[in-house]
Amino acid sequence: AKKLTIGLIPADGIGKEVIPGARQVLEALPNIGVDSPSFNFINLDAGFEYFQKNGTALSEKTLEIMKNECDGALFGAVSSPSHKVAGYSSPIVAMRKHLDLYANVRPVVSVASEKDFSQKHVDILIIRENTECLYVKQERQTTDESTGLKVAWAERKISEYASRRCGKMAFEMALGRDKFRQNIPLEKRFWKGKPKVTIVHKSNVLSITDGLWRETVRSVKENDHKYDSVDMEEQLVDSMVYRLFREPHYFDVVVAPNMYGDIISDGAAALVGSLGVVPSANVGDKFVMGEPVHGSAPDIAGQNKANPIAAIRSAGLLLEHMGFHQQALHIYNAVDEVLRRGEYLTPDLGGRATTQQVVDAVIKLIQ
Ligand code: NAD
Ligand code: MN
Repeated sequence: AKKLTIGLIPADGIGKEVIPGARQVLEALPNIGVDSPSFNFINLDAGFEYFQKNGTALSEKTLEIMKNECDGALFGAVSSPSHKVAGYSSPIVAMRKHLDLYANVRPVVSVASEKDFSQKHVDILIIRENTECLYVKQERQTTDESTGLKVAWAERKISEYASRRCGKMAFEMALGRDKFRQNIPLEKRFWKGKPKVTIVHKSNVLSITDGLWRETVRSVKENDHKYDSVDMEEQLVDSMVYRLFREPHYFDVVVAPNMYGDIISDGAAALVGSLGVVPSANVGDKFVMGEPVHGSAPDIAGQNKANPIAAIRSAGLLLEHMGFHQQALHIYNAVDEVLRRGEYLTPDLGGRATTQQVVDAVIKLIQ
């Protein structure tokens, strides 16, 4: 069996509580299929707390080990203060850049629970461009000559190169999802039509930047017959949010520039109960890093009540993107079952279970 070396970077706040839970779940995976991997974990440092002690949020050593020794990684969350701290810059943004993890893949899926019939059916895959947009952090401040007051500026980058590869990933994943659904009987299938990619933009206002994004992603399908079976449509980002809240079942794959994708996916998390259940994977051509969508949640950190499901599903996504589909599915099914039973839920989902109790419940169903 293949031995996978996984870098674990819990970083700050509840990252320190949920990543060990995800690790336990990976360790508990039984042998399924001939290609079941075994794991070797390397604990790595990064984050705001690390910065306060060491003067850097991400050491060269952590990056080197990830690049040279790890097959993939699992990241927790970082606490980035809202005010400027001299010398500090978020390590997650830097890691995505250094490892060229150009797309952030965020499945937002609802699990029908016996307790909550009001829940809407959601099965959306959000693909967020991960390297540019406003997150290039080219900010500056000037003074307005007539008023003498401050003016702040931010530059936004949209490149044909990044838009194209992100768009390509969206169409590829739309095909992949469609293929996967073929295994589910039609009457149980939620999405019965052709696979669909929705391109999010605001090119009615930002015609040059979002215009380039829109045209480039469109051209991915227009120039490749491989994607003939995938429908393509567009939605302006503001009406996208409206529609997402009203008719979440309308969306299949959604592809968005970095900042819109960030905002939309936190919003979509509300549709499925909590930020604590939504995973993501930072995907590049050579490396994958799983990462829950949520942040370090300082309001609940250290209380053993953080929901570990987002982190556990992120471990599943990591396996899925490394090619271990069966093992990933095994994790997803166990998590879905825990949610469906509703016996062990953390307070964000209305329960009273601790982080460890949820981890244990998942592990019990996995073995
Ligand atoms: P957050 O995601 O940390 O928390 C938002 C709300 O959701 C909080 O009420 C929190 O308690 C709840 N929540 C989040 N995850 C949960 C979980 N697993 N279980 C139960 N409840 C959960 O967002 P925020 O409060 O806006 O940001 C806090 C810090 O996290 C900030 O410093 C921010 O910079 C950072 N952050 C980091 C990342 C990242 O590392 N990728 C992402 C977002 C925010
Ligand atoms: Mn976010």
